[in-house]
Amino acid sequence: MLDTASNRPALPPEIARRRTFAIISHPDAGKTTLTEKFLLFGGAIQMAGQVRAKGEARRTRSDFMQMEKDRGISVSASAMSFDFGNYRFNLVDTPGHSDFSEDTYRTLTAVDAAVMVIDGAKGVESQTQKLFEVCRLRDLPILTFCNKMDRESRDTFEIIDEIQENLAIDVTPASWPIGVGRDFLGCYDMLNNRLELMDRSDRNRVADSIKIEGLDDPKLEEHVPAHLVEQLREEVEMARELLPKLDPQAVLEGTMTPIWFGSAINSFGVKELMTGIGNYGPEPQPQSADPRQIAPDETKVTGFVFKVQANMDPKHRDRVAFVRLASGHFERGMKMTHVRTKKPMAISNPVLFLASDRELAEEAWAGDIIGIPNHGQLRIGDTLTEGESLKVTGIPSFAPELLQNCRAGDPMKAKHLEKALMQFAEEGAAKVFKPAFGSGFIVGVVGALQFEVLASRIELEYGLPVRFEPSQFTSARWVNGDKMAVEKFISANKQHISHDNDGDVVFLTRLQWDIDRVERDYPDIKLTATKEMM
Ligand code: GDP
Repeated sequence: MLDTASNRPALPPEIARRRTFAIISHPDAGKTTLTEKFLLFGGAIQMAGQVRAKGEARRTRSDFMQMEKDRGISVSASAMSFDFGNYRFNLVDTPGHSDFSEDTYRTLTAVDAAVMVIDGAKGVESQTQKLFEVCRLRDLPILTFCNKMDRESRDTFEIIDEIQENLAIDVTPASWPIGVGRDFLGCYDMLNNRLELMDRSDRNRVADSIKIEGLDDPKLEEHVPAHLVEQLREEVEMARELLPKLDPQAVLEGTMTPIWFGSAINSFGVKELMTGIGNYGPEPQPQSADPRQIAPDETKVTGFVFKVQANMDPKHRDRVAFVRLASGHFERGMKMTHVRTKKPMAISNPVLFLASDRELAEEAWAGDIIGIPNHGQLRIGDTLTEGESLKVTGIPSFAPELLQNCRAGDPMKAKHLEKALMQFAEEGAAKVFKPAFGSGFIVGVVGALQFEVLASRIELEYGLPVRFEPSQFTSARWVNGDKMAVEKFISANKQHISHDNDGDVVFLTRLQWDIDRVERDYPDIKLTATKEMM
């Protein structure tokens, strides 16, 4: 069977119905509220408020979580699966705070699309912009939800213009808001000629939609005051003239985003958005890998680790590796090959993240996210196959932007500290560098808050008080080149050399001048700010 749009063979139905996506937004735009409503309409929870309530019960467990709560940020990412209509949605949660951007980046390697939530009064904010740029690097399709329309919001054209200009993407309205702020009534569904009115009496209820025959339908006036009908007609006419029409192919290519207007807290516009994700969002996409690409409909199962979360339960040193399945039909108990070590691995207790709770995964398909509990064998970037030697590519590690020395409060505990730091390095929470000269460790992170998180986790999970102190270095670059050149480079620059947690050679410095000097004096050496996870 051929997919008529792309001329590619159609995917098996179980794979084709999957939509794996993340939500990107600026803090406070409404990501949590929207997630909750997704789960509510996905039948995964009975009542809105449970996501937060559950989060709080979990958070009381530790001071670290307390810190997360105090600051109102979400540090840990997880994945949730639920059904909507004929679709299976896999929503991968991204940590919201900018200090965790590397984690977020990697999360975005595991999804096929992103839902961008913006606040109707604030428009495109800094964090949205940054995350959007990351999506753009991968040409991820983006669907936009303009939230908080129940409050005073900006003019609709202004919002659309701002997105088009700041993000350089075509925007097509999938719905059009009627009235502003207190007078906000609902939306005209531009795709289906329907009137959707907001029910202000019950936040979890959705009013029935009203079918109308175009904007001249007299029924419109039965539901909307005359002056708003007139405004709606004018605006929609202008929008149809000035703004691009929905082009499903352009959406899939990431050059156009459809925008829905709504109010997550009032459950308004959410179902339309979900229908849009189903109808216009991408199926599971091919995965780049070395030496060949992986197609989702290959019968053999492959997957890769994009996140590792350690010590989810501090009493057991358990870790869960989050694996995105790139192809095939996975069944519990399967024997997979862990490509990095070439060792077989029986996946006997994989976890599916149904919103209600973690649940054993009996089966999963390409596009799904499963959790694999393990004792540290699985690292970020690892590939699992049914025997073939394939290595998923495109999961980078970034040079940290902040470096500090880390010392154990008790000098006798240096070995323990090393173990703890390595653990967090493997989880992707920090980079750990062991200088060739001197003792101790240099820890690198992307945002300052991570030092605090690390210090409290090391104390809590390993019982080790630690100190972070300023380092003489501020930049780290990976050293690439052939063996001889690298050895020569190391011996001439010993004070600057360290090894990262994978044993790769890293050049540490505080001066851009030093980096320029290396580039000038060592043509055989290449310093890089990213490396592929091996
Ligand atoms: P997040 O930081 O992006 O996860 O945002 P939250 O979902 O926590 O929402 C931030 C705040 O905005 C909370 O106080 C929500 O109750 C509120 N909020 C979310 N959606 C809406 C909405 O549609 N209208 C209004 N007025 N407030 C909303």
